[in-house]
Amino acid sequence: MKRSVIHKRRQDLTPWLLALPPVAAVGLGAYLSWAPGAGGPLATALAASLGSAAGLSALAFAFDAVRIRRAFAHLRGGGGRLGGVPLPAPADLRQGETVLRLQRQVERLSAIRDLALIANDDVCLERVLERALTVIGDLLSAREVAVFLRQDGPEEVELVPVAQRLGERIRVRKEGGKPLHVTPREAEAAFFARRTVVEGGGRSTLRAGTLLVADGEVMGALEVRLERGPYPPEPRELARELEALAKHVALAIRKPTLYDRAVVDGLTRLYTKRHFLEQAGQLIAQRRRLGTPLSLVILDVDHFKQVNDVHGHVAGDMVLAEVARRVRETVRAYDQAFRYGGEEVVILLPNTGLADAVSLAERLREGVRSTPFDTGEKQIDITASFGVAEFDPSAMSDTEGFVEHADRHLYRAKRGGRDQVRSDLDGEVEVEEEPEESGSSAERRAA
Ligand code: GH3
Ligand code: MG
Ligand code: MG
Repeated sequence: MKRSVIHKRRQDLTPWLLALPPVAAVGLGAYLSWAPGAGGPLATALAASLGSAAGLSALAFAFDAVRIRRAFAHLRGGGGRLGGVPLPAPADLRQGETVLRLQRQVERLSAIRDLALIANDDVCLERVLERALTVIGDLLSAREVAVFLRQDGPEEVELVPVAQRLGERIRVRKEGGKPLHVTPREAEAAFFARRTVVEGGGRSTLRAGTLLVADGEVMGALEVRLERGPYPPEPRELARELEALAKHVALAIRKPTLYDRAVVDGLTRLYTKRHFLEQAGQLIAQRRRLGTPLSLVILDVDHFKQVNDVHGHVAGDMVLAEVARRVRETVRAYDQAFRYGGEEVVILLPNTGLADAVSLAERLREGVRSTPFDTGEKQIDITASFGVAEFDPSAMSDTEGFVEHADRHLYRAKRGGRDQVRSDLDGEVEVEEEPEESGSSAERRAA
């Protein structure tokens, strides 16, 4: 307290002390012009004007010095007001900065942890991409994030867009689905320069591209576009952050591409039955734990034997591949479709109740029947029947019980005339149709 009072006095005296020499110079000038023979009018005027000029600058400097001193006093820990704008005390400022830095670090680590979890537990490429873009877009508050995978053609290497997040909207290219129209810019620059690239872009945006590398293989590139905002990241910091994220994205992408080769059926590109059993087991356990709804749709192509008999097995195969493509195109990224048997497809729908599952099945039914199937020689009209079930822990003990329930509705659809969807919403399954009494579901349907 005492110290600041002394300070204040010293500050107040400064301008006056500094004004003394010019006042003295003017005084001297006046004396010289008055005292006869002491110097003459020219010397007097010179002394007086030099004195006043020096005096004025000294005065200005003195006032500045007062302000500078105040600023220093403020920085030394005084806090309070500076230039009329209330500012936090420097100690608070430092603390605030540290808290912000730590907060950023926590966000970054939690984003990386999320990406690592995705890489660890997800084998569906579309879902991996969607989840990765959510994490990256949120962390960087990016206006746009896009992922490109390399495609090696016979002559040149291409970067194919597979996922894009624009604002909150995420689009992921589906297997065999429509291509995304996103041009790689910084991604391409990074891909060909083999390093991370950060561009100032316009005044309001910051763009960067980085490589997706896993096991030493460059799998593609990722690019982001950020609003500059009031505190834009340092380009080097952005590059480092992006590289850390990209490393995990590459790992997350690599796994499904490898995994797909092992669990995807060659003809339909749908997941295999073995994979279905694994996934259904996990989702049922999750359903029990979290209580979120889980549904299942089973699709069976109608009179498929006839397709084979009339048009041949090759045409039959083409129809199956096309049915699968239409299924993949219709389901959401979180749904998984499996080739359950010859011409049977099951779809697992997490977080989906019965009514939504039924409407998805209706869309699939429409998708199959609405457009004839091209077998090269002929256009064939195809229909399919559907059974839908929502997992009910009190009525179904496991995957088998779950499939069985949907399968019984499928049987109702077949018996009802085919080309229809059946579920608990439109009637009960026949309890007398126990599998041990009437053989397997395939046999029942064939009957
Ligand atoms: P429904 O309407 O009752 O389902 O009649 P369906 O003829 O489709 O039923 P069924 O189960 O009797 O016949 C299925 C046929 O699917 C028998 C089999 O030859 C054929 N199939 C199974 N897998 C394949 C395959 O990979 N390619 C071809 N071309 N046919 C297949
Ligand atoms: Mg069948
Ligand atoms: Mg069939």
